[in-house]
This record gives sequence, C-alpha cells and structure tokens, in this order.
Amino acid sequence: MGYNNLMTWLLFVIIFFLGASVGSFVNVLIDRTIQGTDWVGGRSRCDHCKKTLTWYDMVPIVSYLFYRGRSRCCHKRLSARYPIVEFILGSLFIWWAVMGTFFFQLAVQPLTYIQPLFWLGIGVLLLVLAIADWAYGVILMPVLWVSVAWVLLYRIVLLFLGGYHLNDFVAALVGAIVSAFFIQLLRWVTHGRGMGDGDPYLMFLVALVVGWPRVIVAFLASFIVGASVGVGLLVAGIRKRTDTLPFGPFLVAGAIIALVWGGSLLRIYGM
Ligand SMILES: [Zn+2]
Repeated sequence: MGYNNLMTWLLFVIIFFLGASVGSFVNVLIDRTIQGTDWVGGRSRCDHCKKTLTWYDMVPIVSYLFYRGRSRCCHKRLSARYPIVEFILGSLFIWWAVMGTFFFQLAVQPLTYIQPLFWLGIGVLLLVLAIADWAYGVILMPVLWVSVAWVLLYRIVLLFLGGYHLNDFVAALVGAIVSAFFIQLLRWVTHGRGMGDGDPYLMFLVALVVGWPRVIVAFLASFIVGASVGVGLLVAGIRKRTDTLPFGPFLVAGAIIALVWGGSLLRIYGM
C-alpha cells in the first residue's frame, strides 16, 4: 500500500474516525457505568440541559472544535476528556492500521486475522480502563475481567496453533501473579496512598499482556511516567500536593512502552 496515493489517505481518515467513534462510545459507556444508567437504552443527552443530542452534536472531535468546546443547545463548557479520548482511540486505530501493513503480514495463517484483532481489542480495553481511572479514579472490574479472559483466550489459541511456547505462557502467568502481589505489598507498606483497590488487578492484566520479563519494563516505566506527570502537573499549578493521581493510566502507559520498546530496553541492560 503506497502512502502517496489519495485513496490511502482517505482510508486513513476513515480509520481514524472509526477509532474516534469508538472513543465517543467509550466515553458514553464509562459515564453510564459510573452513573449506573442503562448501557444501551436511551439516546444521548446534553450533560447540562438534558436536551436530546442530534448527530451533528456527536461527530467525534469535529463537533467539539466546531462549537469551541461548548454544547450547541445551552452553550455550556464540555469536558476536554471527550475529544481527547476520541483522538487517542483514533490514533490507536491509525497506529494499528500502519503496523498492520508491515508488521502483521509477517504472521502466518490463520494468525493473520487473529493477531491484529487481538491487539486492537486489548488496546481498546486497556484505554477504557485507563480513561475511567483517570476520569473517575476507579478500575472498572467487569472490563478488567473481560480483558483478562481476552488475553488468556488469545494465548491459549496461540499455544494450540504453535505461535506461543508453554514456557512463555507459564512465565507470563507466574509474573502476573507475582507483580499483582508486589503491588498489593506496596499498598500495605504505603497504607494505600497512591494506589487503589483495583491496581493489583490491573497490574495482573498488564503483566499477562506484556509477558515476562517485559513486565519489569512496564512497572518501572509506569513509575517514571507517573512521577514525571505528577511533578509536571504540580509545577504547572494544575495539581495540589495533596491531590492524588490514579496509578492505572500510568500502568497502561508503562504497558505500551514495554510492548513497543521493551525488547530493546531489556537488551541494553543485558536481560
Ligand atoms: Zn445543553
């Protein structure tokens, strides 16, 4: 696929907006889960005046920019989380499509289909967990268990297809249990400051996804990113010293770093 033809660019725009629409859906799902309202029932309404929204109020990113971050009905300010989440999911889909054009082609049949679907799925699930934790400070446990099942199912399929070794599977599983207990230990030592009830479970999931020994990279990277963002927000005056930051988003950021650069980082340190 050439990058210089119009059709390719058009395709990328479509893929981006497909991802941004998933982001839009993710925002609604997170809000409705936290507020305890029905997931599918009911049309989308304005957060402020409860007026039913039309399709042009809900075009991902575009509506937010067009109405300058305010609702069309009552001109109240809308959370920047909406376009940010839409942009992140759009970017995930683009990254996935670009990777797919050269990376997934290395895979053998029938992994050609299973592998890209798995990574897109786990990407969306991890982002849902990170965004809900960032916005509301909770780990959505149903989403977490779906993600764990999704990873285990994929790995078991890979085992049977010969794309994965039993040793790696056992190492990932043991690594996941050990790192979950390690987070729990940290919570005990720090009396729960800085880490929530859900964090050991999220650590378990992240360790399963990245495997052993990449989980070490994920763990260290999450602390470095978390501390940097924490200090950055403090310096910028956005966060007070007493405000706590959720750990989940940084754990997910650490997982992404471990997946993309984990191999080369481990080689540098001779592991
Ligand atoms: Zn309104």
